[in-house]
Amino acid sequence: MSRGDEHLIRVPGPINAHSHAFHRILRGRTHEGAAGGAGDFWTWREQMYAAADQLDPAGYEQLATAVFAEMVVTGWTAVGEFHYLHHGPDGTPYPDHAMERALARAARTAGIRLVLLDTCYLSGGLDTDGRAVDLNDTQLRFSDGDAGRWAARHSALRAALASDEPATAEAGAGLVTLGAAIHSVRAVPPAALAVVAGALAEGEPLHVHLSEQPAENAACRAAHGMTPAELLAAHGLLTDRLSAVHATHLTAADISALGAAGCSIVMCPTTEADLADGIGPARQLADAGATIALGTDQHAVVDPYLEMRALEHGERLRTGIRGRFSPAELAAASRTGGLRSLGLADNDDHLLVDSASLRTAGSREAQLPLTATAADVHAVVINGIEIARDGIHTRLGDPAALFREFTYEHREFA
Ligand SMILES: [Zn+2]
Repeated sequence: MSRGDEHLIRVPGPINAHSHAFHRILRGRTHEGAAGGAGDFWTWREQMYAAADQLDPAGYEQLATAVFAEMVVTGWTAVGEFHYLHHGPDGTPYPDHAMERALARAARTAGIRLVLLDTCYLSGGLDTDGRAVDLNDTQLRFSDGDAGRWAARHSALRAALASDEPATAEAGAGLVTLGAAIHSVRAVPPAALAVVAGALAEGEPLHVHLSEQPAENAACRAAHGMTPAELLAAHGLLTDRLSAVHATHLTAADISALGAAGCSIVMCPTTEADLADGIGPARQLADAGATIALGTDQHAVVDPYLEMRALEHGERLRTGIRGRFSPAELAAASRTGGLRSLGLADNDDHLLVDSASLRTAGSREAQLPLTATAADVHAVVINGIEIARDGIHTRLGDPAALFREFTYEHREFA
């Protein structure tokens, strides 16, 4: 039986609320360590730093264009880019916000909505006794020196992005907005937290990595006598503009506080599985009043359907109960949760999804979050423009070719 168009389901465009574009370099390269094992989160982080060390603005733009194109063809219509690779080697600033503008150009070229989460990153971490660790050579590229200088750069960046705003939708008008982030309580000392919060524009979203690893909690307790969520609360940061990313290892009091404050929680289920982070208490957070959003974080997988499914699968594996999140709740996490987390207004961005493919034939429409994959995304419309069809970007072609060009031209990553 041949098929008309009746099998194409219109789906509101998924929102990727947590991304580090350059982490894409590590895909498929971190699963064997020198000693035969794959290491842990902290050894993965060393590999990530080695990748960050190699990037300049031109390479960053080329890579981010490929990553954003991959997001578009797989069905993500907006991205929150948690960006901290601000400066050149030794922390020397590039002129004119070169790295940030590289990301903005990449998003406009790829036709994706970008919320550039301009990240404050000031210290190298906390040791097991809770003492601040000096920035290493790579981390120098992340740091503005102090929170006041972050705030000044952030304000200047806002003006720079506004001055770059294109005139037409075809050129990307309206696609790029600015948000803020605190890397984590490991990387931003308590005295700097309020400075960052005080520098935000009205309605500007604020993101933070929260309790991704038990070691972060232990170090925070050693340093400050409280959990990371309690530390944020003590400095007035638990509000409905805050998005906590991961929120994997929380106390019952943390869950209540995040929920009562109306925070958004960005779960990154495929990354949390890949990095052996653990399974966060997503259902409990939602029940406490938090809004769940989804992100691809390090891009081991870029597929909105697999993130939705992994959120529910984690809950099932942890609790032995099916249907912890209904299919409608999974779809909402990918859409309205992301809009709220990134401070975006509702829009007409949408997908046409094939409900009669090898994977989806026979599925009830409402249950597609449990059966479809990015391979079933037939068309992607962002900002009124059909920007992808059947895995091919309408301007840039096959995103895989963009990655091949990047790795051919950047042998240092081979
Ligand atoms: Zn992250």
